[in-house]
Amino acid sequence: MTFYEEKLATIESSGNLRRLPRVEHQGKWITDGGRRMLNLFSNDYLGLAASEERQEEFLASIQGKYLPLSSSSSRLLTGNFPVYTELEERIASSFGREAALLFNSGYHANTGILPALADKRTLILADKLVHASIIDGILLSGAPFLRYRHNDYGQLERLLRKHEKAYDRVFIVTESLFSMDGDVADLRKLVELKKTASNICLYVDEAHAIGARGENGLGIAEEQACAGEIDLLVGTFGKALASMGAYVVCSRVIREYLVNTARPLIFSTALPPFQIAWTLFVWEKLPSLAEKREKLRRNSRLLADSLRGKGGEISQSHIVPFIVGESEDCARKAEELRRKGFYCLPVRPPTVPKGTSRIRISLTADIEEEEIRRFIQNIE
Ligand SMILES: *Cc1c(COP(=O)(O)O)cnc(C)c1O
Repeated sequence: MTFYEEKLATIESSGNLRRLPRVEHQGKWITDGGRRMLNLFSNDYLGLAASEERQEEFLASIQGKYLPLSSSSSRLLTGNFPVYTELEERIASSFGREAALLFNSGYHANTGILPALADKRTLILADKLVHASIIDGILLSGAPFLRYRHNDYGQLERLLRKHEKAYDRVFIVTESLFSMDGDVADLRKLVELKKTASNICLYVDEAHAIGARGENGLGIAEEQACAGEIDLLVGTFGKALASMGAYVVCSRVIREYLVNTARPLIFSTALPPFQIAWTLFVWEKLPSLAEKREKLRRNSRLLADSLRGKGGEISQSHIVPFIVGESEDCARKAEELRRKGFYCLPVRPPTVPKGTSRIRISLTADIEEEEIRRFIQNIE
């Protein structure tokens, strides 16, 4: 055991030791050791998870329906309840697409889809800043891969031209709204690039954008009017959708192929039907939440504009980085902000590159302008 103790000591001495915070939640507030703080690290972008009213409305809407708290099986065996198909059809139709397939989480989706679809004859070209779950999916797939510089489509195009003929298929993989910098991919440009050859496939993860962006809450793909042209459009329910799980929107053929080959789908118990019903309930509400999205946008502009030159200028969304630099300084700054009543956490290597440790602020529609102004005064 001393091996792991020593490893832990090394992590601690570099200022990167992680601990599970023991906190209590109450709406947008977090309480830790008797101190109440405004949660500035929430993924509940529309404030739906914090809304008891919505939950009551949901519970009333499912009166008399059979929606157990466990599916007791993988969907391929006996765990497939009608509500799954209902949600999948609903999602596909929201995007005007043929099919959608649910996964238990974004992590399951991202570690299941690429290993199912990519092989040694497939080249994966992924943005340098894609989420850890995508990296794990790429590694699990065993396919050759290259990372292009973040949002550098010139480099991506050169890589495509150089390699596409040597492979049967090429996958371009990106997030739409990046989780650490809060900036946004140019999906239309990526669609244009993928159309330059018939063997190029585009994979987009909208985890941070679904619900929070687009006129009807359908993400950056809706905002940039290209949802119909993204081969694999992934989204998750654990953030703005205030639930749990994930989906991929794709063609009917790819859906059927994934049902036959995606291991996290085949070998894991499906989410509880009750949970899926809640997701469906929220999904159907998405178009009506435009006011919340607008408030989130105003909050984001206010904060990003005041953090200009310190990371704010990078952000194009409700995720705003405040870059401190060294891990220990960053941890100290976050601690200071928590003392002042703002629940902030440092994001350190290996999550972000060395020397760019940051306080990553994520806003919600529940936060008031006045609270952001107070935070800005305190961060300076
Ligand atoms: C949060 C996140 C995931 C993981 O989704 P879970 O449902 O929490 O497993 C995947 N991709 C991105 C980009 C994310 O931010």
